[in-house]
Amino acid sequence: MIRITDILDKVADNNPDADQDIIDRAYIYSAKVHEGQMRLSGEPYLTHPLEVAYILADMKLDSVSIAAALLHDVIEDTHATKEEITDIFGTDVSHIVSGVTKLSSLAFDSLQARQAESIRRMILAMANDIRVILIKLADRLHNMRTLHFHKVEQKKIKIAQETHDIYAPTAARLGIYWMKKELEDTAFMYLQPEEYSKIKNLVHKDKEEREQYVATVKDYIKKKMNENGLECEVTGRYKYFYSIYKKMVDQDLSFEEIYDIIAFRIILDTIPQCYEALGHIHSLWKPVPKKIKDYIGVPKPNMYQSLHTTVIGPYGERIEIQIRTWEMDKVAESGIAAHWGYKEGKRIDEKVTNTFAWIQKLVDNQQTIRDPDEFMENVRIDLFPDEVYVFTPKGEIKSIAKGATPVDFAYLIHSEVGDQCVGAKVNGHIVPLQYVLKNGNIVEIITSKNHHPSKDWLRFVKTVKARSRIRQWIKTQERERSITLGREICEKAFRKYSLNFNELLKSKEMQKAVEDFGFKMIDDLIVTVGYGKITPLQIVRKLVPTSQLDKEKSILTKIIGHVKKKKPKTGVVVHGIDDILIKFGKCCQPVPGDSITGYITQGYGVTVHRTICVNALKTNPERQIDVEWDKDIAETYPVKIIVRSNDRIGLLADIAASISKHGSNIVSAKTETMESGNVEIFFTIYVKNIDQLNALLSEIKKVKFVYDASRKN
Ligand code: MN
Repeated sequence: MIRITDILDKVADNNPDADQDIIDRAYIYSAKVHEGQMRLSGEPYLTHPLEVAYILADMKLDSVSIAAALLHDVIEDTHATKEEITDIFGTDVSHIVSGVTKLSSLAFDSLQARQAESIRRMILAMANDIRVILIKLADRLHNMRTLHFHKVEQKKIKIAQETHDIYAPTAARLGIYWMKKELEDTAFMYLQPEEYSKIKNLVHKDKEEREQYVATVKDYIKKKMNENGLECEVTGRYKYFYSIYKKMVDQDLSFEEIYDIIAFRIILDTIPQCYEALGHIHSLWKPVPKKIKDYIGVPKPNMYQSLHTTVIGPYGERIEIQIRTWEMDKVAESGIAAHWGYKEGKRIDEKVTNTFAWIQKLVDNQQTIRDPDEFMENVRIDLFPDEVYVFTPKGEIKSIAKGATPVDFAYLIHSEVGDQCVGAKVNGHIVPLQYVLKNGNIVEIITSKNHHPSKDWLRFVKTVKARSRIRQWIKTQERERSITLGREICEKAFRKYSLNFNELLKSKEMQKAVEDFGFKMIDDLIVTVGYGKITPLQIVRKLVPTSQLDKEKSILTKIIGHVKKKKPKTGVVVHGIDDILIKFGKCCQPVPGDSITGYITQGYGVTVHRTICVNALKTNPERQIDVEWDKDIAETYPVKIIVRSNDRIGLLADIAASISKHGSNIVSAKTETMESGNVEIFFTIYVKNIDQLNALLSEIKKVKFVYDASRKN
């Protein structure tokens, strides 16, 4: 059983200058608050934090980490509070302890294999201090070592599965291989007990014979290296059980067929010696082609470095050999932890640090930091900077692009949820739809059956899925509008030829016409009319022989005098259609340059309003249609203006002169005199566009005594 003196001795061994006092105080505090609590083993609860702290001391972590490890369960399991921890031990310790507590409280209930990667990433992303994760890993390691005390079989399986899916890969990601191996092997023991003991027995069988073999191979290597003046250590170790099992399953091999259950390792002083040793090995035994890997030149992302080769050994068997320096060997076992170990008081080896890309990034930001303690304090985890991890109300975890909003989240859940999203709650509070989601947020989407996506959402959504769904919806909407519009156009045009469009819809002739145009459905044809690609007359011609059409025309001519009455140009374009009747809302009198929108009026055409017009806003959005000003308009448009002024003789004449000077015509003018003696003059004038109007208004303001001139409404 680990005692506090074991930990303090270890810390003193690693670094005589370490702050032992904080560790001692953490121990006393932890003992006090955990008093009376028991582990399932029947031992006092305190044994657990002591074991966890010892694992970290063994990894050569700093005093703050070890103190935090002793306290890692106090917030969760005792009456202790974060505030109290801060008061007694300072913000560093309390930050780490509360980080560990936060990770512990994550709901992993709906754990599925496909979620494991997300959870792993989230753990790495959420803890903003790497020490939080190291404590969590050590905590899990000790819990796995004592898992046999658990009474409930299902619970054991669940914990082992979680260890296999999440904690072992997290340890691997951080390069802490010794821990990864132990976590994987213990989980294996609980998850597949039969396979586990089978492999365990196989490894132990023929053990003597195999040890003899290992000694022989080691001798060969050692001799060869010595002949060439290379100082080295050679080891031959069994691979751990789970890796043997995995190899058997993955490559469909029997145990006997696995040649490399023993990994040989040559450890040397320098990198050139490693390459030299590789050459000697290859002159001793024939290498297997394509089995040579140079992780010294190209280190793995978790900073693992080594040369790997497989050769045909003295008995014709394959041998796997790893060649590396002492430094690399340390990193291969301890991973990220190797970078801030006290290293007998030495500074961090910059060269080693440089090999690790993402650590490098951190180091770049903190060039001035040379002290390992300080370095570690500043190691903020930023492994997955482009993602955030959030939860559904049921506790399912989702990863989403950084900057994503509740709308993105809604579309991630389901397209329909996105389409009908009207609001969102984060951690139980209503937030705006533009809210930027943060790690660990619990996001609840509020939907409403009749709600639709909004064009505005395109301004803030972040994910491709949300963006394309919203665009698609808008497109569908436009198609529906085009059908409505196309129908309007056809009804009107057909009436001109005394034909009833709606009656003809179901006729054989119409179906034939639809096919003639290359469509399947009548709606496809009507949409095309709505888009202005086909005119109604083209359809009419398909239905009625031309001769008869001419006859109809002549009848019409007799009635209304002339068929081809030139339509006045409106200067407004509706989807490129020019034969749709357009009128302007009298309420708001749009002029070119105004932002405008169109509304389909049953049996009429399109009425154009200014976008800000209250009447436009009242209209059913289903009937809305995009319209725009024609680029080259020569028309003029009526617009009402109000001029406010102190009254004087000749005022109206001066204003009128100013208006006509700007090439604008006055249609009407009306003056009202107020009780104060001021006057309001209402003009309706014709202007070409908004620029002309604005220029005109500022010109009017220059007229003597005028204090305001503005557009009405
Ligand atoms: Mn614990």
